[in-house]
Amino acid sequence: MSAESKKAHNFIESLIEDAIAKGEHAGKVVTRFPPEPNGYLHIGHAKSICLNFGIAEAFGGECNLRFDDTNPEKENQEYIDAIKQDVEWLGYEWAGEVHYASDYFNQLYGFAEELVQNGKAYVCALSADEMAEYRGTLKESGRNSPYRDRPVDENLQLLRDMRDGKYQNGELVLRAKIDMASPNINMRDPILYRIRYADHHQTGDKWCIYPMYDFTHPISDALEGITHSLCTLEFEDHRPLYDWVLENTSVPCQPRQIEFARLNLNYTITSKRKLKRLVDEGHVESWNDPRMPTISGMRRRGYTPESLKMFCDMIGVNKAGGTVDVGMLEHAIREDLNSRAPRAMCVMRPLKVTLTNYPEGETETLTLPVHPQNPDMGQREVTWSRTLYIDREDFVEEPPRKWKRLAPDQAVRLRGGYVMTCREIVRDDSGEIVELKCEYDPATLGVNPEGYKPNGVIHWVSADDSVDVGINLYDRLFNEENPDGDKEADFIEHINPESLVVLEGARAEKNLASPRSDLPYQFEREGYFFYDAEQSEAQGKPVLNRTVTLRDSWGKGK
Ligand code: ATP
Ligand code: MG
Repeated sequence: MSAESKKAHNFIESLIEDAIAKGEHAGKVVTRFPPEPNGYLHIGHAKSICLNFGIAEAFGGECNLRFDDTNPEKENQEYIDAIKQDVEWLGYEWAGEVHYASDYFNQLYGFAEELVQNGKAYVCALSADEMAEYRGTLKESGRNSPYRDRPVDENLQLLRDMRDGKYQNGELVLRAKIDMASPNINMRDPILYRIRYADHHQTGDKWCIYPMYDFTHPISDALEGITHSLCTLEFEDHRPLYDWVLENTSVPCQPRQIEFARLNLNYTITSKRKLKRLVDEGHVESWNDPRMPTISGMRRRGYTPESLKMFCDMIGVNKAGGTVDVGMLEHAIREDLNSRAPRAMCVMRPLKVTLTNYPEGETETLTLPVHPQNPDMGQREVTWSRTLYIDREDFVEEPPRKWKRLAPDQAVRLRGGYVMTCREIVRDDSGEIVELKCEYDPATLGVNPEGYKPNGVIHWVSADDSVDVGINLYDRLFNEENPDGDKEADFIEHINPESLVVLEGARAEKNLASPRSDLPYQFEREGYFFYDAEQSEAQGKPVLNRTVTLRDSWGKGK
């Protein structure tokens, strides 16, 4: 890591730095990101990706992408493709080809035979229930399986018969012979292989036995020359087993496992299994529904790779755990977009305004900056005309004190345009306001009016020269801080019924006829909105998703 690097080191970087200073790992750092392809990646995975790829970058090393694919029933190609796309979108490049734990099934099996031959593993015929009973508890040590002392030859033959399909699911397992009295339950003769008649997305029907995670992971790490195997804290108690496997097999090197705290976010679920339920039960539209905390959902919502990386930097890496406020994530995207999102105007709930003193049929073109602080982003044009739309919420008949918008006989400036004064309210038969007749002041383009002061600045569009857009107002998916922490209720019951409000009839300035798809827009005074290609195609008009409001208004006015 370069001396001028300003970022504070996290504890893992410090550990690696010390190891390298001592000459370990031949000075090379190799990490891996090892997702199981049983769902889409979520914001928690983003933390792990930033950490693993970030460390490789910082130390001039490499990071592998490895699919940890030892549960064929739950995994599939769709997830593999989505995961690769997400890692690339975050801007990371894995070293060489994508790896699969299943690439090592032959070697893993070879190491299993090696353990058997060395008297360090045995084939056990206890049922799952019996095995649980023999395992003991945290307070009581376990008991040896009656099959523990099978002779090596018999074990070897049974293992081969398992592999060759001579037994059914659950009949036999291969177990490590470690210590049934260990205070660490993971060391009480853990299962290394189980029988599963299942088609595997990579290896088809070649195997009917599959290795367990705790056996697969250390060996895959060693075969890939991983120096530091970073994982979340729940694996801390598995580390002795990780080390045992490496010490008792003839693997080429000894990677080091280091644990860090998972990311937990309030108002958010970060478990693939539960996110899958949201999709399967139709509570959201898909894995990439913009309300999902998946990387693909956040991408569709308008989150940028930069904002996710900024967020991961902000939360840091430690062993303490705890829950992060989702407001920090929202802060990160606001920070990023405030400095570079193109500005535009969109009227969410249009109210017609007629400028009675502006000639019918005439228009003029006004020029506004794309970004007020960044002239390099250029200029945009909007049309001024006799009929405009403003937002219904920007007009009240009886303004409260300090009202900064339009009211009868009061004046406001229209952003980038002229000052106008409201002269008359037009209502329909039911009494609803359907139009305002206003007078504009031709001497106020870019200059203050003489003799009076406008109330504030509001946004607007021209009636004829604006486009109909679909607007999805997304909000937090859950209205409980800890949706999963309720013993009485299922997390599904805490879904925010207002997590999606669809607005019809919104009108945006004409530039939105073909919206940019690289970055969200800042719709003035409304928030950040990102073009949704899929929904636009389906609806035949531009559809935009609200990424986030301009300010944190969660809980206010609810
Ligand atoms: P899930 O519970 O959502 O299924 P997982 O840990 O089983 O998560 P994996 O696909 O096995 O998911 O995870 C790949 C990597 O991402 C692992 O190294 C895992 O520790 C890490 N990871 C998963 N969730 C988080 C999280 N919330 N915070 C940090 N890292 C995470
Ligand atoms: Mg997992």
